[in-house]
Amino acid sequence: MTTVPGYLAGHVEDLVALQARVAHARWLAATGQGEDHPALPEGPNRLTDGRLVLLALEHGDLHYAGELVLWYFRVRLTEATARLRLLQRTVTAEVGGRALTHGELVAFSRTVTDDRRRAEVRVALADVGERLREGRRRWLDAYAEARAELGFPTHAALVRALHPEVDRFVIHARDWLDATRAAFLRRWDGWRARDGHSAPAMGDARLVAARAVLPEGAGGALASVRSTVREWGFGGCLERILVDDVARPGKSGAAFCSPVAPPADVRVSTTPGTTLGHYATLLHEFGHALHFTAGTRHPADLWRTHPALTEAFGFTLERVVRRPDWQRRHLGVTVDAEAVERLAFAREHVRRLVATSLCFEMAVHDGHPDPAAKYVRSYEREFGVTVDRGAAWDRMQTYLEGKPCYPLVYHQAFALRETLWEHLAGRAGERWYAGSDAGPAMRELFARFAAGDGAEEWLSPGGVPLGQVHGEGEFGPGRAGQPDEPVVGGHAVDHAERAP
Ligand SMILES: [Zn+2]
Repeated sequence: MTTVPGYLAGHVEDLVALQARVAHARWLAATGQGEDHPALPEGPNRLTDGRLVLLALEHGDLHYAGELVLWYFRVRLTEATARLRLLQRTVTAEVGGRALTHGELVAFSRTVTDDRRRAEVRVALADVGERLREGRRRWLDAYAEARAELGFPTHAALVRALHPEVDRFVIHARDWLDATRAAFLRRWDGWRARDGHSAPAMGDARLVAARAVLPEGAGGALASVRSTVREWGFGGCLERILVDDVARPGKSGAAFCSPVAPPADVRVSTTPGTTLGHYATLLHEFGHALHFTAGTRHPADLWRTHPALTEAFGFTLERVVRRPDWQRRHLGVTVDAEAVERLAFAREHVRRLVATSLCFEMAVHDGHPDPAAKYVRSYEREFGVTVDRGAAWDRMQTYLEGKPCYPLVYHQAFALRETLWEHLAGRAGERWYAGSDAGPAMRELFARFAAGDGAEEWLSPGGVPLGQVHGEGEFGPGRAGQPDEPVVGGHAVDHAERAP
């Protein structure tokens, strides 16, 4: 039996049951098998009325507070979220004679390379986004009300209570953006010229990766990931990981992992794909699935784990697909250098998006007088593209559904990814993923995660202040890769949604 603080002990099994119920409902919804309407506890409920969040904060148990606050918001926002979901399912735009929802358009935009069709998708996305905007604003208002009732007059105050380190990471993100901007914009111009994109748009980076298709004769993604996992000595875990690889209407186009009742019931959803990024993402999700099955004895082990560490582990595993020795062994082919660079660029783009979002969001939470103008300026500076003022709230709403400060967790995870890779290499050698020490080295990591280490302890061992920025990224020496998009969803609850 796992150990939790006294104030939580009497609630553990009820929390586990609630988690399983909600995660299962979300799994069904995200795989196109049901609606996202779990049966929730009725009436005033100590589990989700916010009192446990405040108790955890009083005790300085920040990881538990971070987990409990997710339950508080999920339950408080059940109706607001259901209203928004209904809109998201019913507001559509036509592309090529088919009516597509926002989610379907985003999935489609990842695969369309034809210029005329791309322009059509872009117009449709803008149209659907515009029509969803009012619904997103209503959701944000409901969120703000719930947050105020928890006793936090501003969102920045809640974020700082949960993440006292946030301001140091905002500075880190700003410095990283400054240090990497010129090289990033140059690379992007290079890809645009190469792929013939004349009008710069945010979606271009996805298309760069969409062209990183594996050569004929490569093994399938699921088979190669399973053989990798078996080689690491986690074959027994595969029996506890339910995989849904069927394409069905309403199913999320992105792979995800959902710990419904870890370690016994963990699920991975995926759809067919042939790009290198698809393989990387699937290995990322199986990284979560291994952590949740091999690395936990009770769901509460995850409540203690810093979510940035969970994500960073997935990011770390993704990089393995870039290694030619792994490709030869598990795909039966090697992937050309251009495909690897395409994936690396797309990942750097996502990292940049996350760092930009962290700076933007905290400025807004701290009361920036003109968020829309700030949003437009940030994107122009960091990506060289023009964005719609109205979209300033869209991404924030999606991130807030996941966590009170999702970009912070992702920004930390990107930095931690380097740390974890080096840790594994230190323990099992530079080709740690190819040897018999891989499994034991990963199990040791899981044990440290469950012990409750924070992001800063990993990044700054011995209490040294957060390291200065080296402009580290996808292209430095020994660097390898990560997933398709930030995943939105409670880390110990599900990974069932991805940001647009
Ligand atoms: Zn993940």
